[in-house]
Amino acid sequence: MKKVNRRKFIEDLLVYNASFVLGAGFLGACAKDSFGSPNSCELDYLPIQNDNPAIAFLRKKCEECGDCVEACAQKQKVYGTYKASSSKHVCIHCGTCIMACEEHALTEKYQWKDVLDAINDPSKIVIASISPSVRVGIGDYFDVAAGSFLVENLVGSCRAAGFDYVLDTNFSADLTIMEEAAELQKRFLGNTDMPQFTSCCPAWVKYVEIYYPSLLNYLSTARSPIAMQGSLVKSYFAQNKNIAPQNIIHVAITPCSAKKYEITREELPIDGLQGTDIAITTKELAYLLKNQGINLTEQTGSFDSLMSAASGAGIIFGNTGGVMRAALRTAYYNLTGANPPGNLLELQQVQGLSGLKEASVTIGTTTLNVAVCYEMRNAKTLLEQVMNGSCKYDFIEVMACKGGCVGGAGQHTTSSKIEKRISALNSADVQASTRYCHENPEIKALYRDFLGEVGGTTARKYLHTTYSSKSYLL
Ligand code: SF4
Ligand code: SF4
Ligand code: SF4
Repeated sequence: MKKVNRRKFIEDLLVYNASFVLGAGFLGACAKDSFGSPNSCELDYLPIQNDNPAIAFLRKKCEECGDCVEACAQKQKVYGTYKASSSKHVCIHCGTCIMACEEHALTEKYQWKDVLDAINDPSKIVIASISPSVRVGIGDYFDVAAGSFLVENLVGSCRAAGFDYVLDTNFSADLTIMEEAAELQKRFLGNTDMPQFTSCCPAWVKYVEIYYPSLLNYLSTARSPIAMQGSLVKSYFAQNKNIAPQNIIHVAITPCSAKKYEITREELPIDGLQGTDIAITTKELAYLLKNQGINLTEQTGSFDSLMSAASGAGIIFGNTGGVMRAALRTAYYNLTGANPPGNLLELQQVQGLSGLKEASVTIGTTTLNVAVCYEMRNAKTLLEQVMNGSCKYDFIEVMACKGGCVGGAGQHTTSSKIEKRISALNSADVQASTRYCHENPEIKALYRDFLGEVGGTTARKYLHTTYSSKSYLL
């Protein structure tokens, strides 16, 4: 029965293609192709190609159930917008199809063995940077209760595996907010290119580049936390530790398949050097640790002393609404000179697993209208509003994954687990020594000693990026 329904869904998709995207005559143009499918227009699976930097397809495991096709088309609005074939497949690398595939025929592109090779190379200094969500997702692979906050076990395990330094990407989440809040203030006061969209999810950024290139100016130019972490590891950190940046292998450990794509973006290298060399997922780290006989629960450790201090604002980056809450805390401070009241710290209206949330926030004499969404089907609603001039929001957070990065494809995910991870990161925010990135002493030292002004010339070099139209992919 399931197979029949999937076939029906794919047929409906074909009608959509023929009617709205590719024009009359498309169905008649379908023919046998070299991909092994009887008809490239009726694929029951996603034609992931070998050069996809993030997603791997194991054809022999595929039962052609169509679940991945449905997830990609319905949740992320990608499949069905182009004519798929063996040589043509459009992808934003979100990994939603991985989560849909019960046969494990789709996975992230595994690179954990490359990390082991680097660790075993004595000429390399191997540095790990750990994203917020990994600490609440890794326990699933070691029989620990879902949502357990395991940061010390995680750091200790990375050290046991042989990483030379272990840093916290939450540090750069704080930094992202410093730059993004200042950018919001500038746009809002100048009334230019509003609304401002967040830019820390590479799948979302690529979606805008492909489908809405006329709106690229609305994306914050702030790099994602991992992209900032990469540029600073190879500069600020290397200088402080007296390491030749060419000898560093920087490894991002993330819940995310799309980060494998993001680190290869041609806009990111600085002075010819790629900031992050390898991105592995939570699941891949678990594979690496198990391969090395390391039991997560038996290890403890703490982050290195540089590029690791983080506020509670950085911690909640992994949650839907977290980037928004973090940015508004600092925007409030920037505009009023005081930290925000408790209701703005929590901003309950943008929390929870609803796919599209909104709030109005009063800062001094100003009211900001904000929205938070995940999955491109919800983002598309807001993008269309911006296109037709009916958008009422000033600042919009978009993430590709349900619940934000805690629901990323690189760790085992259910709605119940997502809720527990969100709750764990929120608790860590409340318990943090400060909940404001502008109070993070390491961030202050970084601007004082290396970057100069927020949004200044040096900060723009290391912390910002550019985007370009990718509509040619369609
Ligand atoms: S969900 Fe998995 S098994 Fe089903 S069609 Fe897609 S790749 Fe094949
Ligand atoms: S990674 Fe995302 S965009 Fe790419 S095929 Fe899978 S669901 Fe579609
Ligand atoms: S929401 Fe987070 S985990 Fe998901 S694709 Fe975006 S950055 Fe990656």
